[in-house]
Amino acid sequence: MIIFNHFTNLRSYLEKCWQSKKKIGFVPTMGALHHGHFSLIRESQKHAGITVCSIFVNPLQFDNSDDFKKYPKTTEEDILALEELGCDVLLLPDFEEVFPDEASENKYFGLGYLENILEGKFRPGHFQGVCMVVERLLNEICPYTIFIGQKDFQQCMVIKKLIELMSIKIELVISPTLRENSGLAMSSRNMRLNAEEKKIAEKLFQSLQFIQSNLDVNNFLQLRDRAIHNLSNDGFNVEYLELAKTDNLELVSQYNSQIAHVILIAAYLNDVRLIDNILTEATSM
Ligand code: AMP
Repeated sequence: MIIFNHFTNLRSYLEKCWQSKKKIGFVPTMGALHHGHFSLIRESQKHAGITVCSIFVNPLQFDNSDDFKKYPKTTEEDILALEELGCDVLLLPDFEEVFPDEASENKYFGLGYLENILEGKFRPGHFQGVCMVVERLLNEICPYTIFIGQKDFQQCMVIKKLIELMSIKIELVISPTLRENSGLAMSSRNMRLNAEEKKIAEKLFQSLQFIQSNLDVNNFLQLRDRAIHNLSNDGFNVEYLELAKTDNLELVSQYNSQIAHVILIAAYLNDVRLIDNILTEATSM
């Protein structure tokens, strides 16, 4: 695996791929890699001729500076794991490389409705930060395909929208959420949970499953109240628990079984913020 810290060197290396039309698969991450990330790397290896992974903990997408400071960093282990997986290229830029001037830190992306709900509502500026870094990386890497995880359901929609706004042709592949045996969605933030908290955290997905399996036309609000009540008793502080249409993420209170829906949750367990989602149908997004 070749590691690049600078875009100029990476671009010289990728030049050959662009010229020979070798398909570049791109997996953007913030590091502290786990099996969820690895599944994206493997997916890229199946589809693409060369796989580029990036690790960059982007301060501009953290609305909470404490969360940024405490975000786990395991770069040495990440490098070893990527080597072992046979990833071709790792991009490890620093802040100045990604955001070389003020203008690059102050772009605005017209995300519309997506920015005002769920993660957008509770993490102001988060998706602008995501778009700033992803736009920069896509422009530098020019991948054929970008591989992202359904775990961050709303982010998948934001990246779809970003690609539209950039008027570029990039294939988007969304992979299912990898989970621990307990059902807990794998996440870098899980490293901040102790054993007892990890056990409690399992209840997040159990709540989603409970709602999914009991959902009827008129009972979402009741199921939500019950789930929030139970999760609060377990020590969670639930920020949102919503039902939305999968195609446009319109929030609804009534379930229509003819339409694909997703149930999304964000909750704090002590100071660790966890998110998860479940589709109301067995189909992937
Ligand atoms: P992150 O490092 O958290 O920014 O995540 C980088 C990519 O990995 C994003 O596309 C995430 O959606 C994806 N990802 C994170 N957790 C999982 C998971 N448990 N299963 C599959 N993909 C994931």
